[in-house]
Amino acid sequence: MTDDIDRQQRWICSPPGRRASSDPHRAVLAEALREALRRGQLHLAYQPQVAFSSGAIVGVEALLRWHHPVHGEVSPSIFVPIAEEAGLIGPIGDWVLERACAAAAGWQRAGLPPVRMMINVSAWQLRDGRFAQRIGQVLARTGLQPRRLGLELTETALIGDTGDVAAQLARLRRLGVEIALDDFGTGHSSLTCLSRLPLDAVKIDRSLVPSVDSDALPITRAIIAMAHSLGLRVVAEGVETEGQLELLATNRCDVFQGYHFCAPVPAGPMEAMLRAGRRMPVLERRRTACTRTVLLVDDERWVLDRLRQQLPLRFGETIRIEAFDDPHAALARLRGPQVDIVVSDLLMPGVDGITVMNRAKELQPAAVRMMLLGPADLARIIEDERQVDVYRYLTKPWTGEQLLKHFDAALAQADRARAGQVLDETLLDEASRPGAETLELLDLEAAEPGITRVARGPMDEVVLPSQLMTLPGDLWTPEAARDAGPRWRSF
Ligand code: C2E
Ligand code: MG
Ligand code: MG
Repeated sequence: MTDDIDRQQRWICSPPGRRASSDPHRAVLAEALREALRRGQLHLAYQPQVAFSSGAIVGVEALLRWHHPVHGEVSPSIFVPIAEEAGLIGPIGDWVLERACAAAAGWQRAGLPPVRMMINVSAWQLRDGRFAQRIGQVLARTGLQPRRLGLELTETALIGDTGDVAAQLARLRRLGVEIALDDFGTGHSSLTCLSRLPLDAVKIDRSLVPSVDSDALPITRAIIAMAHSLGLRVVAEGVETEGQLELLATNRCDVFQGYHFCAPVPAGPMEAMLRAGRRMPVLERRRTACTRTVLLVDDERWVLDRLRQQLPLRFGETIRIEAFDDPHAALARLRGPQVDIVVSDLLMPGVDGITVMNRAKELQPAAVRMMLLGPADLARIIEDERQVDVYRYLTKPWTGEQLLKHFDAALAQADRARAGQVLDETLLDEASRPGAETLELLDLEAAEPGITRVARGPMDEVVLPSQLMTLPGDLWTPEAARDAGPRWRSF
């Protein structure tokens, strides 16, 4: 027995990178692996992946397990590289594909909640020019819907001959299979991979999953923002604590997996979990607390379509969008249930954006109001006799990142409004004191050439700094506005 343990230690401690043929221990392990494949000693464990937006299981990662009759469990981090060197990863990879797709197809037939089966694929498998074709055959054979399959590839699989790899990936995506980049943040070519290859998701490596006292948070946050700006979903792996979960949720990570929800389990318990509809209760509660209604009003349908496309990518189920190309219908809706954000175009036939904003202020006083402006529209607002009080102006055309930044701020503001808080309460108190000054026209020429008068009206109904913060260059901060003289309130 001691001998066996010694032998396992030696197997496991053999330096990686030495070829199986030149290392007797690795060669022995490779032979044992070949035998294991023949004797059915390999099996799969499954680990659920959970959506932050709902707390529900949306994916399952298949993880290879080898139970050696003498040496017990051997880690895939040890034996997968050996299988690659020994030319065994082809047949092992095929076995994993068949087995995992068959399991997922069984869940699909049983009518369990739809999940995507994520399978790890080695660089060696991708180098086979018929890989995509083989995936198509497995899907056809098992009856698994392509959108219920995803492949996890590491950066090493994607560097090198990217032309060929990109073509394979494109073929797979045409089938409807999702591609995720695994262990992101540990390799060297991350940025190139992200922008050049047809990917759907990025998995942040466990080493970059932040905890409250770690230095990883800025990096994780940057990865999430970058992935989102490229339209990719972000999955965090190795989440072990509530604190990590909270940090990732706050930073808008999309999906997580890790011991905090569930360690990898055999097929039976995995199926039972799906059948029972197991969820992460904290996230479910967060969702109920967080679903906010966003009303979009614009007579141009393409604007609505674009917003409807861009916003859910970032905010998922935490927002519910109601879009109106008829401003009259939007006004009728404002009389209905709570709205958290109202975004309206300025120029529309019949009813204009100022009217929509003013009605929104009256009917949904807690809603955060934002106005969409064309390049010349600010001047129109300045010329207009009516008062208008909005949180931010969004100028067209916008970039995805700008838009999301403003919505991030607006949603935070909406949450504060929901919680009954108001930003800068001291200033508000001052401004709403009886006899508070009335602001006629604020001359901003000195602060920002080109923009003269921006708003008019009683002081406590004008929101200047926050509007101005969105003007080109984000020149204005509350401090700058305070320095500019008149008192203001922000909401
Ligand atoms: P991976 O694809 O990044 O898989 C995630 C690893 O993290 C798994 O290790 C999983 O068991 C582990 N893990 C999950 N949650 C936690 C957590 O909360 N804390 C910690 N500390 N670990 C967690 P595992 O199963 O040992 O797999 C290691 C690696 O082996 C995988 O990393 C993958 O690269 C490779 N691998 C596994 N199965 C296959 C396969 O079927 N084919 C190929 N080519 N590679 C595989
Ligand atoms: Mg993986
Ligand atoms: Mg990984």
